[in-house]
Amino acid sequence: MESYDVILIGAGHNALVCAAYLLKAGYSTLLLEKRSIPGGAATTEELMPEEAPGFKFSPCAINHIFIHLGPVVEELQLAKYGLEYIWCDPVVFCPHPDGKYFLARRSIEETCQEIARYNTRDAAKYAEYMDFWQRFVSMVVPIFNSPPKSLVDMAGNFNGNNFKNMLSLLGPANETLDLIRTALTSPRDQINEYFDSEFLKAPLARLSGELSNPPSQKAASFGAMMMALRHNPGMARPKGGTGALSEALVRCVQDLGGKILTDRPVKQILIDDGKAVGVRLTNGQEYRAKEGVISSLDAKRSFLHLIDASDVDRADSKLRERVDRRIACHNEAILKIDCALSEAPRFIHHNHQDEFLHGSVLIADSMDHVELAHTDPEIGRIPDENPSMYAVVPSVTDPTLAPEGKHTLWIEFFVPYDIAGAKGTGIKGTGWTEELKNRVADRVINKLADYAPNVKDAIIARHLESPPELEERIGVVKGNYYHLDMTLDQMMCFRPLPELANYGTPIENFYLTGAGTHPGGSISGLPGRNCARVFLQHKQPIAQTIKDAGNTVVSAAKSTLDLFKSDSKS
Ligand SMILES: Cc1cc2nc3c(=O)[nH]c(=O)nc-3n(C[C@H](O)[C@H](O)[C@H](O)COP(=O)(O)OP(=O)(O)OC[C@H]3O[C@@H](n4cnc5c(N)ncnc54)[C@H](O)[C@@H]3O)c2cc1C
Repeated sequence: MESYDVILIGAGHNALVCAAYLLKAGYSTLLLEKRSIPGGAATTEELMPEEAPGFKFSPCAINHIFIHLGPVVEELQLAKYGLEYIWCDPVVFCPHPDGKYFLARRSIEETCQEIARYNTRDAAKYAEYMDFWQRFVSMVVPIFNSPPKSLVDMAGNFNGNNFKNMLSLLGPANETLDLIRTALTSPRDQINEYFDSEFLKAPLARLSGELSNPPSQKAASFGAMMMALRHNPGMARPKGGTGALSEALVRCVQDLGGKILTDRPVKQILIDDGKAVGVRLTNGQEYRAKEGVISSLDAKRSFLHLIDASDVDRADSKLRERVDRRIACHNEAILKIDCALSEAPRFIHHNHQDEFLHGSVLIADSMDHVELAHTDPEIGRIPDENPSMYAVVPSVTDPTLAPEGKHTLWIEFFVPYDIAGAKGTGIKGTGWTEELKNRVADRVINKLADYAPNVKDAIIARHLESPPELEERIGVVKGNYYHLDMTLDQMMCFRPLPELANYGTPIENFYLTGAGTHPGGSISGLPGRNCARVFLQHKQPIAQTIKDAGNTVVSAAKSTLDLFKSDSKS
């Protein structure tokens, strides 16, 4: 039987990142992936090779933001393995029904100038709003880059700038209380507190909702980060599509001696005497793991489907019930629409410029429009009477994705996983059918055509994927693209549950990584990197603690110097 130090279940980008760090530390690793290609929700695929040959699509993630908050790309030298990022600027375009439009450029100052065309007060307020959220981001980045329960690691990530921004937010008691109050409020309340114009409020609400919360949800104001991060560090896409990231990671892992096997669905994690010792595939084949098994599937799949119930109960008698009933995966999911186009959409009612298509194109007419886009799916209704959506035309900035002169269109539309009143019918009993998918997609395209009328005739072919089909393809529970909800009660040291939040589990040698662990879903590689750190801390406690403590001392010295430098400048 083949034997490795570590076996990773799944070969999404987080498992690949985790494997690369373990290989660098000298552990032999095997990644077992159920699909025929690695990457998970980070792939590029020719979705319609017959109707639209030569068009390449990213069926899931498209815009890379969070990965630029951490050191994964540099530390793993992914440029050497072929990864090249194309930065977006402008970063957001949102046409408004009254003819105005929100155009966010990467520079906050230039964005304020765009807003000032319509409202000078809102423009000034935008600078203030962004200043707050940028300092907030600076404060949380060190936390994203460390295991949520590791204070030494966290401290090591703070530099002078982070400290200064943290102090500016936490300073006197009233400021600290105000920060806590802001954290407890909703995106909607906060946006109303700052701004007057709907053309600006609606796209800000839409982006806040990218963490899949309605704008009115209390304790979700941190969704404002989704706009703040588009300014700094910015938003980029790998040349060749999102899959180019996974391909670079695959080359890196293989170069370091790691092994990746595709078409290998794992059926069971083997536990012996309370310890994870290997895995069994659906075809019965077994692989042994000498040092550990790491699952990049979320806690529900890992503990409820892959491990024998008696083994989980022996480790923690309450765990199965808590995983089953406490972890929330709401009903909101995505109908994904990918189109091959003969020409790029033209927003003729809104001063169309090709550069408007560089970033995220949002159809969000008002905050109420965005609200319904989230609340309807939650109760099983499809909000397709007046669809709000998020579109991207990736081929505008990366012509390698389509035949010359042609384009690709990526649309994300929030829909329910389970359709109300249709339980037990359609795909996986969710109520979704081919006919329904097409009907909803027609409505989404019609709405987009209200703004870009040429889009309908430009469609050469389209590919639709409903939530249960996404679940079938990459395994995500209820089509949840973040593995589990990104709400404050399921973030940081609560993700996925307090007792599982530091990547280790009550089962010896069994670890969790992936979007269902801190800091969560999206393309960041940070769950993978953090998990590898914890694994190494467990296996090489002295060496790793000395290394981490050394980093902390260096960082503290650097912070003090930075603070002195900035004080002497001011
Ligand atoms: C439609 C959509 C749009 C998105 N847009 C963005 C975006 O623009 N920007 C962004 O940052 N994020 C976006 N995301 C989210 C992001 O793609 C994911 O959160 C992220 O890719 C998760 O990566 P992961 O490695 O943790 O998990 P996954 O990518 O889910 O990887 C898990 C892997 O495990 C495999 N697997 C499952 N079960 C088994 C098994 N039993 N045995 C072996 N292998 C198994 C799967 O096939 C998969 O390859 C989007 C997601 C979706 C679905």
